Amino acid sequence: MGAQREVEPITLERLIKDLRALGVRKGDLLNVKVSMGSIGYVVGGAHTLIDALLEVVGPEGTIVTDSFVLVYPLPLSEKDALRVVDRHTPSYAGALANAMAYRPDAVRSSHPVQKFVAIGALAHELLDAHTPESYAYDVLRVMAQSCGRNLKIGSDDKVVGVGTTHVAIGLLGFHQRRPRAGVNYYNYGTGEVRTFERNWAGACDKGLKNFIPLYRSGGAIVSEGRVGNVEAKITDMKMTLDIELDALRKDPMFFMCADPACEGCRLAWDFSTGSRVSCRVHRWICLVRSFPRLARRGMKLLAGE
Ligand SMILES: [Zn+2]
Repeated sequence: MGAQREVEPITLERLIKDLRALGVRKGDLLNVKVSMGSIGYVVGGAHTLIDALLEVVGPEGTIVTDSFVLVYPLPLSEKDALRVVDRHTPSYAGALANAMAYRPDAVRSSHPVQKFVAIGALAHELLDAHTPESYAYDVLRVMAQSCGRNLKIGSDDKVVGVGTTHVAIGLLGFHQRRPRAGVNYYNYGTGEVRTFERNWAGACDKGLKNFIPLYRSGGAIVSEGRVGNVEAKITDMKMTLDIELDALRKDPMFFMCADPACEGCRLAWDFSTGSRVSCRVHRWICLVRSFPRLARRGMKLLAGE
């Protein structure tokens, strides 16, 4: 049976205690990936978690999270062209990203889409260098070289990855066929509005979990515990990056999921070996298999159950 979910509100003091017990320490450079909803009812919401993190890492520490923004099909439609990204554009990445972005002491990178946000001693050094010309995930490469650690609060299903797989994909130059997409953005250097085209590869969320046994056997999982109601873990970013580079050099398809209908894995990469026909057949098989369940649900609805 899983751990009982507490119904008591989770306070700042409780979060500080849990983070310390997990192994977060003074001076940490942390990439934070979190499912706020999984922690429980946090008094004060995401700002309380930020306060707790800053208290534990202290003024010599730095917390970072991704605060990416949406892209739109290129060429931009008339409506999408009016959505000009600037440093205050809200992120789709969730409560922590948006709470951090609006803190007066936060620094947000000027990359038009894969924006990171940071608070702390290294915030400017890390993010001032992340510009429209940078690789989308370069902040995480620099963190891996600087003793950075990834703090994941939430299950591996809910909070995917440990922050470094996209760095490995970029360093290895893997190319993924994706529809053209981008945004208009305000260039603070020139004062102009420019169009930016997405120029990096993505990855299938389900496939990222393939690395977890390797992180464990390779000693990259530094500690595991709980924050509020949910599991949490700290991983060493240099170690996870080295493990990913090693695994992907040996087998570029290591990060593919097992779903035969997943077009992202079976078709999109230069080294993908699937076929469109096979993906469609498997999708059709899935649909047929789910038909009895859908029919039962329909019957219940009709019967007013
Ligand atoms: Zn996949």
